[in-house]
Amino acid sequence: MSTAVVLFTSDLRLHDHPPLHAALRACDQVVPLFVRDDGIAAAGFAAPNRNAFLADCLTGLDEELRDRGGRLVVRSGDAVTAVCAVAHEADARDVHMAAGVSGYAHARERRLRAALAREGRRLHVHDAVLTALAPGAVVPQGADHFAVFTPYFRRWCQAEIRGTLGAPRAVRVPDAVRSERIPSRGDVAGISAGLATGGESEGRRRLKAWLRGGIEGYEDGHDALADDATSRLSPHLHFGTLSPAELVHRARSAGGPGADAFVRQLCWRDFHHQVLAARPGASVDDYRPRHDRWRSGSEAEEETAAWKAGRTGYPVVDAAMRQLRHEGWMHNRGRLLSASFLTKTLYVDWRVGAAHFLDLLVDGDIANNQLNWQWVAGTGTDTRPNRVLNPVRQGMRYDPDGTYVRRWVPELEGLEGPAVHQPWKPAGRERVRYDYPEPVVGLSEGLARFKQARGTA
Ligand code: FAD
Repeated sequence: MSTAVVLFTSDLRLHDHPPLHAALRACDQVVPLFVRDDGIAAAGFAAPNRNAFLADCLTGLDEELRDRGGRLVVRSGDAVTAVCAVAHEADARDVHMAAGVSGYAHARERRLRAALAREGRRLHVHDAVLTALAPGAVVPQGADHFAVFTPYFRRWCQAEIRGTLGAPRAVRVPDAVRSERIPSRGDVAGISAGLATGGESEGRRRLKAWLRGGIEGYEDGHDALADDATSRLSPHLHFGTLSPAELVHRARSAGGPGADAFVRQLCWRDFHHQVLAARPGASVDDYRPRHDRWRSGSEAEEETAAWKAGRTGYPVVDAAMRQLRHEGWMHNRGRLLSASFLTKTLYVDWRVGAAHFLDLLVDGDIANNQLNWQWVAGTGTDTRPNRVLNPVRQGMRYDPDGTYVRRWVPELEGLEGPAVHQPWKPAGRERVRYDYPEPVVGLSEGLARFKQARGTA
């Protein structure tokens, strides 16, 4: 009886899963394996919110497999050692997995391929599982990746996104291969109170609801902070409980301006993944160095602490930072304006902000987080690297009646309408609860400092 191992990584689903599909076609049995990789924990990437969501995903995957006669095998330790051990126990000649994009994923693939080859086994790496289009599938002439979004988007729209695959009907798993206990959300301490639930069935439920009732209004509504009119599918895309290729196809079938705008955002995701795949160092190094000498020292540290705590004195920034802590998720507009505030108004290194986001975001993702932070900081792919988002104007524009701010900053509940965005003004001051802080820095002072640093003063 032939057996293959399918290593699940950031693709925790049964629908549209090319590695599983290929293994089931080629072999009588498969071992669906997930390794709780020591390397990821050692890199500090295994934050509580993502660990809890991951636990939901693993529980869900096990249930889905059991419904089909199989089960999930979970192991802990070094990924390469664990996969080799399972392949040996199952007497599997072939191991299938999705291609990753980070430097860590590439190194893991190389090590795994070599270790398996030493035992006479083969690794099959499948493209376009974690992204709709594989990194490198479209490239500009003479370069290995697109460095600007718009030309990438044009080519991406013309490229063929692979067709989607159904979930398997039956999965046969050899009895001899044992599993560790599957972790559960209850094992994880320190998670955000409003953290979303993970798992493929929850992802599919959300997708269905989104296609039915949300996507239509996306073009007009996606920036409105208070409306919550975005899909919130990002954690499902991060953990792969939903397939990006399937999302593109289903959104395109839904059609209309909302669907077009949504597909464009999915392209942003692929864009950042293809940048990271080509430049893995961009997870820590400036993609386009601007010779910044970011502020450090006790004053910058105090201001950064205020930013993290949602106590900068700029209401919309504080609301966004509190949403992050409470939900482990933040609205995209909030991410943009809070990241701009840290890197450009406070002139603090984007790596400090990116690390804080990764500590809390349930969708925290090396490609999307680090490269979006670089985009905002002006060290990444933005063609207007010195733009600065003014938090008062952003608040007035994207939270015009102040609902979002009042939701997250109860100290400002007493201020009505847009007055909530400028609590320091005399008319509002007496309605502010005593413990809301004064602005940590004046906006013109921050702007002047940034312009001088970038040589644009
Ligand atoms: P929707 O608006 O419904 O968009 C649909 C999907 O498109 C998202 O789920 C996401 O997968 C993708 N997408 C949307 N915007 C972007 C974008 N700018 N870049 C890449 N993909 C995008 N996204 C993450 O998934 N993980 C992160 O760690 C992350 N960190 C970010 C940090 C900063 C500073 C900024 C500015 C953005 C970051 N984003 C990140 C991108 C974006 O904010 C989130 O993907 C989005 O807010 C998730 O909400 P949603 O699923 O409702 O998005």
